[in-house]
Amino acid sequence: MLLVEEEKRKLVEHLWSKGIKNEDILKAIYKVNRERFISSALRKLAYDDNALPIECAQTISQPFTVAYMTQALEVKPGDKILEIGTGSGYQAAILCELGGEVYTIERIEKLHENSKKLLASLGYKVHLKLCDGTLGWEEFAPYDKIIVTAGAPVVPENLLTQLSTGGILVIPVGSIESQRLHVITKTEDGTSEKKFEHFKFVPLIGEEGWKPED
Ligand code: SAM
Repeated sequence: MLLVEEEKRKLVEHLWSKGIKNEDILKAIYKVNRERFISSALRKLAYDDNALPIECAQTISQPFTVAYMTQALEVKPGDKILEIGTGSGYQAAILCELGGEVYTIERIEKLHENSKKLLASLGYKVHLKLCDGTLGWEEFAPYDKIIVTAGAPVVPENLLTQLSTGGILVIPVGSIESQRLHVITKTEDGTSEKKFEHFKFVPLIGEEGWKPED
C-alpha cells in the first residue's frame, strides 16, 4: 500500500499534468488531508482524482475541479472569499491554506454542523452559515472572490451584487445534467465573462437556484 505522502504526490503530479500549474494551489492540495473530509470507509479513494459521496446524498468535488476553480478564482492572501456549498469543508480548507478569509454557506444542517466541527478541529478559522447561499451573505459583503460549488440554472443576482468591483465570481451554470464554468469579473461598468469546460455538479437549490422538485 502506498504511503499517504506518495498518494498525495501522485495526485499533485496528475493535477500538474492536467494543467494546474499554480504552485500555491498544488502545495495546498498536498497539505490538506482529503481523507479527513470523507468517510473512513472511502479512505482508499481519498487521493484518486474523483468526486466522492458524502452524507445527505451530496459530494466532495473531484480534486481537479477544486484546483481548476481555485485557479480561476486567482486567490491572493487576505482576499475575502464567499463560498456557496460548504459540503465537506474541503474547498474551504484549500482557500484558507491560500490565505483567504473564508465565509462559507451550506443549506443542509448536518453538513453545516459536521464541517463546522471538522474545520475548527483542524485549526481553520472559517465563518460558516446555514442558509440558502443564493441569497449570499450580505452582512460581510462585498467579497473579493465568490465561488459556487453547486450547479446553478442562472447566475444569482444577489451574488453579483455582493461582489466587489474587480472581484471574481466562479460558478457552474447550465442544466441539471451538465454545466459550464463561468468566470465573471465585475468591472466599473458591468461584468466581463469567460466560460470553460463542461462539469457535473450537484444542483444549487434555492431562491435563485433550482427548486427541490426539479
Ligand atoms: N465545496 C464542497 C466540498 O469541498 O466538499 C463540495 C460541495 S457539493 C459538490 C455542493 C454543496 O452545495 C452541497 O453540500 C449542497 O448541499 C450545497 N448547496 C446546494 N444548494 C445550496 C444553496 N442554495 N446554498 C448553500 N449550499 C447549497
